[in-house]
Amino acid sequence: MRRISLALLLALCALASPQAPASAQGFGGARPASAQGFGGAGQPAAQSRVTGAITLALDARETPRKLLHARETLTVTPGALTLVYPKWLPGEHAPNGAIDDLVGLTFSAGGKTIPWRRDPVDLFAFHLDIPQGAGTLDASFDFLSAIGAGGFSSASSETAHLGIYSWNQVLLYPQGARTDDVMFRASLQLPAGWKFATALKAASENGGQIDFAPVSLTTLVDSPVIAGEYFKVVPLDPSTPLGTSDTSSRRVEADLVGDTAASIEIPADLTQKWKRLVQEADAMFGARHYDRYHFLLTLSDRVAHFGLEHHQSNDSRVNENSLTQQNSIGVVAHEYVHSWNGKFRRPAGLATPDFQQPMDGELLWVYEGLTQYLGYVLAERSGIWSESYYKERLAETAAYLDTEPGREWRPLADTATAAQLLYFSPGQWTAYRRSTDFYDEGWLIWLDVDTTIRELTRGAKSIEDFCHLFHGGESGPPMVKPYTLDDVVAALNQVAPHDWKAFLGSRIYQVTPRAPLDGITRSGWRLAYTDAKNEFIKTGDGDRVEAMSSLGLRVRARDGMVNDVILNSPAGKAGIGPGMQILAVNGLRFSAEVLRNAIRDSKTASGPLTIEFQNDDLVKTVPLDYHGGMREPHLERVADKPDLLGQILAARARR
Ligand SMILES: [Zn+2]
Repeated sequence: MRRISLALLLALCALASPQAPASAQGFGGARPASAQGFGGAGQPAAQSRVTGAITLALDARETPRKLLHARETLTVTPGALTLVYPKWLPGEHAPNGAIDDLVGLTFSAGGKTIPWRRDPVDLFAFHLDIPQGAGTLDASFDFLSAIGAGGFSSASSETAHLGIYSWNQVLLYPQGARTDDVMFRASLQLPAGWKFATALKAASENGGQIDFAPVSLTTLVDSPVIAGEYFKVVPLDPSTPLGTSDTSSRRVEADLVGDTAASIEIPADLTQKWKRLVQEADAMFGARHYDRYHFLLTLSDRVAHFGLEHHQSNDSRVNENSLTQQNSIGVVAHEYVHSWNGKFRRPAGLATPDFQQPMDGELLWVYEGLTQYLGYVLAERSGIWSESYYKERLAETAAYLDTEPGREWRPLADTATAAQLLYFSPGQWTAYRRSTDFYDEGWLIWLDVDTTIRELTRGAKSIEDFCHLFHGGESGPPMVKPYTLDDVVAALNQVAPHDWKAFLGSRIYQVTPRAPLDGITRSGWRLAYTDAKNEFIKTGDGDRVEAMSSLGLRVRARDGMVNDVILNSPAGKAGIGPGMQILAVNGLRFSAEVLRNAIRDSKTASGPLTIEFQNDDLVKTVPLDYHGGMREPHLERVADKPDLLGQILAARARR
């Protein structure tokens, strides 16, 4: 997953054990004793069993008003049954199933309504009693698609022209069942004239009614659907796909939906770069672990912007004009890497048997951090990112992480373990709190690993040997191979013997007051600060004044609202904090330009830089003794070292 936000950049169980395989007879769902308040005098209720495939019909015809209708039919036996709503969502690494948006819930069997009761402790669980004689249970409910609220897939996903349907939002399943073992027969009804794409196979299609072939609950939730009025398919695999002589299998395509016809007009050069991305990934991993792969790309200013990985697809959502502003398309490279690193190979703590059990995110610095490193390398090798944009973005990332006061107390591993909190933390005080740094610091750490392998083997090996070993093997359909930290260390040792456990331990599991910049240095470059504009920071200039490396301040461009402050910086020492509003700089009314000019001119100014700010109802002016100028981060070549970064960024695939 990848959050795309410049503003944030600065982004129990059934009686049967849930681990135990479900019996061939079906999935039980007894309610806990505490919930048996309705039962007869001390008589334990028989346990209902759910057998066969569950039928799920999603009526999405009211997508434009953000209202989805679901109807589910389960084959059941009489007794107590608990159905649950997916809570822990794969790829989101957090318990943010949108239970609050599930409404209109009713159950019936044999024409009679069956009352339900929510579990008072587990709010994602619903208890009901299936009466004698009932063979099937019908569940009917609606999903209110958020308008601007919620996180990731729970955030805005529908517009007047398109819809992104995440199956986990519109289904219930028996408590205690493994999601690999529950089969679903899903169907979807779309608004008239809309076209769709998904990794699911359609068994039949008639007008806007699509019946999908039965799949496991795991696969269903892993296979969102995008649909819309403006829709385009872009094949990305002109030649024989890797790992097969059959040109009909393991192919890759991009599917575009947008709010306007213009939004999905893809320039020919971007199509070529995207095809190169697929070829570069083949070169990096040496195998494909999917039957078909769909880049599902939504181009809209009205949906939430992020990327969410799946095994055979990714749900990436970007601004409407992104096909002409190609830097933001880099997210698709990150999400594509996840098909190998995250889906095929997954930390054991994130490979849970169902959607209710908590996930352990400690190894997200591999899952997301390595993906960040490999994805950005692929974005550059394919040409979607320019080499200079890659380097400028790396410089900005390194500079920001190196100034973060939160490094003094929080090891990187804790940002991974606490990911479920940090994804949803406010932007204020981010530098002191630290955010989901396992992404961007992972970029630095895996660059460190890659350059160390190259150095240890005198250029004979690289991170790609690790990728072939760890993520490659035989091409084939989706499967999950969980791993532990020891497995990562063992694979690294197989590529290049070294004390990798100590290497990773000192950078990830210990408090490190400075950012891990060794990878940049070892690659023949260094982090340097000049007055020249950083190309990546420039892309966010309309939104903010980024002065973390100079005054120690990040400010909203339109109104001077302070977003974040570095404690031990000129602004921090002057008592400025998040939520305060800058009114004037050096006696001039605030504008982004006035603040930038004052920072630039501080180099030659004789006196301090003065900032007038409002804090609640107090107005105050403070002097900042600062004369360092803009201090924008860049990478600077170290002449006497080989340019390993240049080698890393060079395209691999044959053209
Ligand atoms: Zn990711």
